[in-house]
Amino acid sequence: MNRIYLDNAATTPLDKEVMTEMANVMENYYGNPSSIHAQGREVRTLIEKARKTVAGLLNATPAEIFFTSGGTEADNTAIRCGIAAFGLKHAITSKIEHHAVEHTLGQLLKDGVIDKLSFVNIDSKGNVDYAHLEELLKNNPRTFVSLMHANNELGTLTNLERVGDICEKYDAIFHSDTVQTMAHYGHDVRKIKAHFIVCSAHKFHGPKGVGFLYVNHTVKISPLIFGGAQERNMRGGTENIYGIVGLAKALEVAYSKMAEHHADIQGLKTYMKEKLIAEVPGIEFNGETDPEKSLYTVLNVSFPEMEMADMLLFNLDINGISASGGSACSSGSNIGSHVLTGIGVDPNRPSVRFSFSKYNTKEEIDFVIGKVKHIVEQNIAV
Ligand code: PLP
Repeated sequence: MNRIYLDNAATTPLDKEVMTEMANVMENYYGNPSSIHAQGREVRTLIEKARKTVAGLLNATPAEIFFTSGGTEADNTAIRCGIAAFGLKHAITSKIEHHAVEHTLGQLLKDGVIDKLSFVNIDSKGNVDYAHLEELLKNNPRTFVSLMHANNELGTLTNLERVGDICEKYDAIFHSDTVQTMAHYGHDVRKIKAHFIVCSAHKFHGPKGVGFLYVNHTVKISPLIFGGAQERNMRGGTENIYGIVGLAKALEVAYSKMAEHHADIQGLKTYMKEKLIAEVPGIEFNGETDPEKSLYTVLNVSFPEMEMADMLLFNLDINGISASGGSACSSGSNIGSHVLTGIGVDPNRPSVRFSFSKYNTKEEIDFVIGKVKHIVEQNIAV
């Protein structure tokens, strides 16, 4: 059975072009980039070439790009080291951030590094209340703001330029978790006005375990990981050469066909949304689905209350369909999605996140709709 993979917000398959590039490095380069001899120097050159490629695509300078082990480390570095560098005592975030942000800020509060953590209001579709953000900043100068670009469960987008403008007005330090949108939209760091944005290569057909942190040139932070002088003294540890080369290649490939893939994937999402409305009774969507307000790779569907609701994903799985999801936390239980809970989704309704990539097809969506319809009808009828 050919499986259908609709869990691309969790991770994506490696692009063949990326694999070829990485295999070449694995086969032919083994020097330690910190070594001064020829083998070391040639690997150092590969890393700096990758940095230049990444910087060029984001309209950043190479000095603003620091390679990391992925999105989680980049978020941790931005938050922990950004707050430390400015001696900030207050942070603003939302209740629907990724755990890499939520748990990091929560720990800083617990440790007494910050003494206040405020949550900006979010509406029932996951949109940030910009007026409330401004209100919070007015009353709290010298604040760290962490708001993600696209929510990884809902797909709802935040207007980064707008948040950047508000932060600039109140002299706040702005970090955005851009893991889900990097390589899907053309980020221009000069327009966003964020001090920190982050990347994880495995979300756009690059390798796992590698990412980067963009740090605006006006900000000077200390490392999160101490050790050698790698990454210009900003991150100790021998570089993940294959990963870094793969990341740059994956970003390059994504940018070269971004408009085309955007249109194709948005087409699949819209098609699936319309088919679900037409064919599956009682469904609703979690988060924004309007193309202007929603990440084109994510569609979060809320199904009617049904028998064996927790078996929905399992049923899809045994039918050859990979997706992810869950339900909001029911009272007294902390198992479940803090994001769905954060926007007030009914905990009795199971939700599935379908997330798409350039490798999905309309035929796959048709197959999935047929199976979903069958599973829902069977279970509602019990
Ligand atoms: N932030 C968001 C929004 C994500 O979706 C993810 C991955 O699931 C991460 C951070 C963590 O990235 P990584 O898997 O590279 O640590």
